[in-house]
Amino acid sequence: SVAVQLDAVSKVYGSGSGSVIALDNVTLSFRRGTFTAVMGPSGSGKSTLLQCAAGLLRPSSGQVLLDDKEISRLSEKESADVRRERIGFVFQSFNLLPALTAIENITLPFRLAKRTPDQEWLNSLLSVAGIAEHVGRHPHELSGGQQQRVAICRALAPRPQVVFADEPTGNLDTRSSREILELVRAIVDRLDQTVIMVTHDPGVAAYADAIVFLADGHVVDTAGQLAATDVA
Ligand code: ADP
Ligand code: ADP
Repeated sequence: SVAVQLDAVSKVYGSGSGSVIALDNVTLSFRRGTFTAVMGPSGSGKSTLLQCAAGLLRPSSGQVLLDDKEISRLSEKESADVRRERIGFVFQSFNLLPALTAIENITLPFRLAKRTPDQEWLNSLLSVAGIAEHVGRHPHELSGGQQQRVAICRALAPRPQVVFADEPTGNLDTRSSREILELVRAIVDRLDQTVIMVTHDPGVAAYADAIVFLADGHVVDTAGQLAATDVA
């Protein structure tokens, strides 16, 4: 089934002669329980696609459906609720709070919301991520790869419907990058999650179920398992 669907999504920045068409009528479906990579040159629209798909940015036209819920025309508050409750985010920078331990970083969003995480889910997450024995450490006591594992666990702790990752291996060496891609693969296979990742890492081809190639705001090619796609 479809986790996220973009229907004729366009995004134009600015207006008049200075405007930029960052996404041009993109129709694309991401399958549930798969790992999709979004690739393409700098300026091709990858970040804009990710931000529109994640409800962070309102498309100029078209629709975005998250599990059949229209998220492209919500109010700021509704959109923030959808992001908090249904979507996980992973970035190039790990964004961990230095004063907190790994487990405190992972559970902070729950504490702020006065909720308790599902302990069984959290334990399987820490185990798949291979950081169960490191969770009492602070970020500076962890390698870059380990810090990204912690950030991935934080994104997945609320059991989101979709996880969006923007260049998650951009700050890591080759070996740590491979390990993060292996972890994403394991999260999809063993925890039945859906991951959409923007990356320049050509090594991703060995791990992703599908790849979408963008150029100049268009989907110019696809590979692997996508639900339904229009290639311009
Ligand atoms: P990518 O992630 O592939 O590098 P982006 O989605 O960041 O591509 O950008 C696509 C195009 O839109 C580029 O031409 C970029 O300069 C432009 N762009 C992105 N964000 C903005 C913005 N906030 N204001 C104006 N132009 C933007
Ligand atoms: P990325 O590696 O994601 O392509 P960029 O450096 O293109 O990063 O963009 C970083 C941020 O700046 C994004 O939020 C993007 O929307 C914004 N941005 C990109 N291009 C422009 C632009 N021409 N004008 C204003 N903001 C932009």
